[in-house]
Amino acid sequence: MKPLIILALSFLTPSCGPGLGSDYAQFTAYVDYFVAEGAARGRVIDPFGLKIYLVDKVENEDKGIIGICYSGGYIYLKKSYWEKATPTGRETLIYHEMGHCLLNKDHSSCPNLMCSTVLDGDEFDQHRKQYLDVLFSR
Ligand SMILES: [Zn+2]
Repeated sequence: MKPLIILALSFLTPSCGPGLGSDYAQFTAYVDYFVAEGAARGRVIDPFGLKIYLVDKVENEDKGIIGICYSGGYIYLKKSYWEKATPTGRETLIYHEMGHCLLNKDHSSCPNLMCSTVLDGDEFDQHRKQYLDVLFSR
């Protein structure tokens, strides 16, 4: 059985904790792509101040949480999930969290990048334009 993977949005500001590091550099390509795809759809997205961390543990991971956006532009991604994810699986996770942190989007219907369960990477890749159109819609 495929595990249910849940993405979370939290308005709590995180406190510093173990496993945190400045991992932003490895995510620059994802952020640039997100900003460019948004711009192509008329959205001006300012990623300044966005912080992305790969962490050993995320809040409520026992409930299937693999990524969280905290207010203030902090994205925490579960390292063990990220390392095993396919390239497109990584994209669906990080675009989801940037949807929360940079577009202030809540969860929406599924399948969708803002669905509370992570969108399948292959599905995203096959219908990339359609999913991005919905993500950047107002
Ligand atoms: Zn979410």
